[in-house]
Amino acid sequence: MTVPLLDLRRQFATVEADVRARMDEVLARQSFILGSPVEELESAVAAYLGVRHAVGVASGTDALLLPLRALDLRPGDEVVTTPFTFFATAGAIHNAGGRPVFVDIDADTFNLDPERVAAAVGPRTRAIVAVDLFGQMAPMAELRALADRHGLLLVEDAAQSIGARQRVDGAWRSVGAQGHAASISFFPSKNLGAYGDGGMVVTDDDGLAARLRRLRVHGGLKMYHHDEVGFNSRLDALQAAVLLAKLPSLDAWNDARRGHAAWYDGRFAPLEARGALVRPRVRPGNESVYNQYTLRVRDRDALREHLTAAGVGTAVYYPLPLHLQPCFAPLGYGAGDFPEAERASAEVLSLPVFPELEPAEREAVARAVESFFDGQGAS
Ligand SMILES: *Cc1c(COP(=O)(O)O)cnc(C)c1O
Repeated sequence: MTVPLLDLRRQFATVEADVRARMDEVLARQSFILGSPVEELESAVAAYLGVRHAVGVASGTDALLLPLRALDLRPGDEVVTTPFTFFATAGAIHNAGGRPVFVDIDADTFNLDPERVAAAVGPRTRAIVAVDLFGQMAPMAELRALADRHGLLLVEDAAQSIGARQRVDGAWRSVGAQGHAASISFFPSKNLGAYGDGGMVVTDDDGLAARLRRLRVHGGLKMYHHDEVGFNSRLDALQAAVLLAKLPSLDAWNDARRGHAAWYDGRFAPLEARGALVRPRVRPGNESVYNQYTLRVRDRDALREHLTAAGVGTAVYYPLPLHLQPCFAPLGYGAGDFPEAERASAEVLSLPVFPELEPAEREAVARAVESFFDGQGAS
C-alpha cells in the first residue's frame, strides 16, 4: 500500500459541490478583486477566531510582510524570531526592512523560548515574530508580556495553526488573540487551504487594521490617490469563495488530525520507551491542530529512505535552519550558533496526518516505522 503525505483530492470530493456553487457566484458576477466573498470571509474568520479585524491578503508571506511594513522599520532595526521555521518568516522581516535576529528554540515544541527571546532584546529591537510550528501555538502569553515590557510589536506567524488554542489563566485563547497581529496562510497544504495562494492578517488593533487595508491596495484607499507606497496584495475573490465553502469543515478536519496524532502517539509509545524515537510534544494547556505530525529520529535519513521504499510519503520540515541559509550569510551567523535548531533540522521527520487518512493507511505507516526499528534490533 502506498500512503501519500497529503492527498488534497480526497478533501475536494467532500466539499466539491459547495466550492463549485460559491465559485459560480463569483463567475456570474465577474467581480474578482476584493468585494463580497472577501468581506464575508474576513467577517467569518474574525468571528471564528474572536478578533475584531481580518484583512485578506495575497499570501501568508504577505500576511507577515504587511504588519511588519506597518512598523516603518529603519535600517538596523531588529526583529527577533526563530531560525527553525519556513523561510517566509525571516524573509518577510528582511523585506520589511528589518534585520532578523535569531534565537534558539525550545527542544520539546520547536517553538520560541521566551527566556532566549528576552536575552536577545536590545535597544534596536522593534518586534518579535513567533511561529506556531506544526500547529502548536508558541508561548504567546509570555511573549506578549515581554513585548509589552519593551514596547515591541508581537506578530504571531499562524500559517500552520488556524484552529489551535491554548489555555491562559483558565480561559481558552485562539490563534490571533494574544499578539498584536497574527498571519494566516491559505496555501493549499495548510489546515484551511485555498486553491492557490492566499492569506489573512487578524488583529484587534483598529489603527493597524486600517493601515493594512491601505497597504494592500498600493497605499491608498481612494483610487489613484496614494498616502504611502504600498503593495498589490489582495486575497482573490475566487479563493475567498473556496475558503467560505471550506471554513465550516475546519474544526472537523482539525479533530481528525488530532485523532490521527493520538493514534500514532499510542502506537509509537513503545518505540519511544526504548529510545528509538521521540514523539511530538504538546505542552499542557495546548491544543495542536497538527499541520504536521513530526517525529524526532537520530537516524532520520535512513528511516526516511526505508519509508519511501515502503511507499510512505514523508517530509523534512526543515532541513536547513534559517541562520545557515546562504542569503542570510551577511547576518554573520555560523554553524553551532543555535544547537537545538540545528539538531531539530537533522532529526525531524513528518508523517502523513491529513484529515482523510484511512485507518488502514495509518496502520501501514506505523508498521513501516516499526519494521525499520525491528530491522535495527532493539536499541
Ligand atoms: C506556509 C508558511 C508561510 C507562508 O505562507 P504562504 O501562504 O506560502 O506565503 C509562512 N510561515 C510559515 C511558518 C508557513 O508554514
